[in-house]
Amino acid sequence: MDTMETKDMTDVTDITDITDTPEISESKEDAEKEKPKKENKEQTDKKEKKRKKSKKAADPDAPFLPKKPFKTHGGVRVNHMKNTAEIPSEALPVPKRVVISMQQHIGTACEPIVKKGDSVTVGQKIGDSDSPLCAPIHASVSGQVTAIGTMLMPNGTEVKTVEIASDGQQTLCSDIQPPVVTNADELYAAVRESGLVGLGGAGFPVSVKINYSPDKSVDTLVVNGAECEPYLTADYREMIESPEDIIEGTRLLTEMLGLRRAIIGIEGNKPAAIRYLASLIRERSLDDKMCVLKLKNAYPQGAEKVLIKACTDRAVPVGKIPADAGCIVLNITSVGFIARYLKTGIPLVAKRITVDGSAIAEAKNVVAPIGTIVSDIADFCGGFDKPPQKVLMGGPMMGTALYSLDYPIIKQNNGLIFMGEAETDALRPTDCIRCGRCVSACPMLLTPVNIQHLVQKRDIDGLNDLCVTSCMECGCCAYSCPAHRPLVQFLRMAKNLVKS
Ligand code: SF4
Ligand code: SF4
Repeated sequence: MDTMETKDMTDVTDITDITDTPEISESKEDAEKEKPKKENKEQTDKKEKKRKKSKKAADPDAPFLPKKPFKTHGGVRVNHMKNTAEIPSEALPVPKRVVISMQQHIGTACEPIVKKGDSVTVGQKIGDSDSPLCAPIHASVSGQVTAIGTMLMPNGTEVKTVEIASDGQQTLCSDIQPPVVTNADELYAAVRESGLVGLGGAGFPVSVKINYSPDKSVDTLVVNGAECEPYLTADYREMIESPEDIIEGTRLLTEMLGLRRAIIGIEGNKPAAIRYLASLIRERSLDDKMCVLKLKNAYPQGAEKVLIKACTDRAVPVGKIPADAGCIVLNITSVGFIARYLKTGIPLVAKRITVDGSAIAEAKNVVAPIGTIVSDIADFCGGFDKPPQKVLMGGPMMGTALYSLDYPIIKQNNGLIFMGEAETDALRPTDCIRCGRCVSACPMLLTPVNIQHLVQKRDIDGLNDLCVTSCMECGCCAYSCPAHRPLVQFLRMAKNLVKS
């Protein structure tokens, strides 16, 4: 994980400015013509309100659907830099080869179940494990397995890989068919077989997330459409290009898991997405148990615990999981994928990725087979205008710095940011001036200023008292520090110290 300074970000493209221009009446005459229409609309709105009120009165147990987000603590305002928001996604031509990592999720790595020389087809399972905390891995191209090798992950761990030379045919695996899902157990099994992991970046196996222990009283599905990291628009394009899948996936999950309500949280800088999804909910008469909630434009609205607080006013206890606060949180693209998978049976073999940063010639969203090499994606985007100084997998606040352009993309990868010199100017840290800004910015109510001192003293008891394990490495503290202290690095060290 790597956090960078983003204070120099300029050239802000706020989606609000593009898509939310108010309509203006031209003249008094036009205004007169518009009057009856307006009156009709007001009457319809009144009737609709009355209908909903009487429905609510008839069903006092109807779930509460918030109209406004609840207050959250901390966070920072970052420049959105959503340069690719209005550009439709483009499919990458089938690459000549892919290198598929056997560790694309939190949990146990998969073991390859194919060998060198085997012919494979798209969607064929090529890696799996008996561990419950795992998601199987499938071939993303058809062709021949050319190597079973190893690769060094950006975090320094070594993982097995399956390399496939593509035949360019993209022949679909003959075993693929839509799964039969009539109850929650069948849903867990189907989602596991799909290979789905949290597509927002964390990579937690979704089949495990939705199969929570029966002793947790979960009643709410929170769909994460915040996408609050600068640059990234992959989830936004999912909302614009596949809104029906998102609503269908949300409906299916809510019904199959027996939940009372679903809240789709979207940052306010995506008004077109909010409008589309809200109107689909109304059209399908799902508005008694499902809603779209416009979140404030602040980072990190998409962090699981912050999102739960904003959508439900519930706090996840320290050291606990969302199910302990009665919620399941799923990324919005993951939800759309579930609807598609249940229709087609095609597992997770491709991913939409935002390609941006000042070094790349053409910023765009690219749909690429999993395992595509980063340099192939850069070539598809016109190559580099200038040499990249830093390449991030993910956004600039929480993305991981890559050591090589030969690295392949993985399932939970949602962005490739090729940064030029202007974006990577490192600011030299100076002494802490005890201004307290890092404390105000921390969404988890931690005190980074004190934690850094305790790390230097290696005071493990003190670090435990300050609940350092709650840190989600969001980078808000470092971003707001006027002394440019490397606070996230201190927090990582603190977490390692208390674990060791
Ligand atoms: S924001 Fe930086 S300078 Fe201010 S108290 Fe925190 S660490 Fe010190
Ligand atoms: S201490 Fe951790 S959770 Fe708090 S702002 Fe810093 S990185 Fe984020």
